[in-house]
Amino acid sequence: MRAYRQLLLANKAWAAELKDEHPEFFSRQVIGQQPEFLWIGCSDSRVSPEQMTMTPPGGMFIHRNIANLVHDDDLNLLSVLQYAVAVLRVKHVIICGHHGCGGVKAAMTGGTTGSVDAWLANAREVLVDHAAEIAAAGEKEAQINRFVEVNVRDQLVRLARTDTIQEAFAAQQPLQLHGWVYDIRDGLIKPLMEIEASTRLDDVGAPHKVL
Ligand SMILES: [Zn+2]
Repeated sequence: MRAYRQLLLANKAWAAELKDEHPEFFSRQVIGQQPEFLWIGCSDSRVSPEQMTMTPPGGMFIHRNIANLVHDDDLNLLSVLQYAVAVLRVKHVIICGHHGCGGVKAAMTGGTTGSVDAWLANAREVLVDHAAEIAAAGEKEAQINRFVEVNVRDQLVRLARTDTIQEAFAAQQPLQLHGWVYDIRDGLIKPLMEIEASTRLDDVGAPHKVL
């Protein structure tokens, strides 16, 4: 069987099972969405936000890109952020990196070309800004994992400085930003840091090492 057909078969089984367990499920989905969370994560196929948090459809607005980066001029991310915060009024925005991130590793080791190389410029800036701390982490794998952690920190601060987040904080909208990492070795999400309206962004330090 062609592999993609497996996806369609699995989808039929999923929909039938859900309808069987919750007959009203899909008719409620049609009404609209009211997620509490915006998830910004890596595109890596091993990092599946809804599965690893057991979040049902409707629970999470999601944006994913290589190495969970926040580019100031990324209309894709900025429009997702604006809609999630200003219209859906999510209460939590999570940036989640992960152990062994290929994008972060490539930003360190090089060898990328084209669009991927241009995309990773942001991550290379993080590497330059935290070079001493990353180098001090030890072996290559440990250095990459420390890079993953400080990358989440820097992206979360970038996110906090966007107009959307600054306006929500100024309006005292209930909103917290969370920096997490997912450990693919044990399947556990490890929290790193939080940013709230009262957080002084210039004073946000490097998170404790958890990977
Ligand atoms: Zn990744």
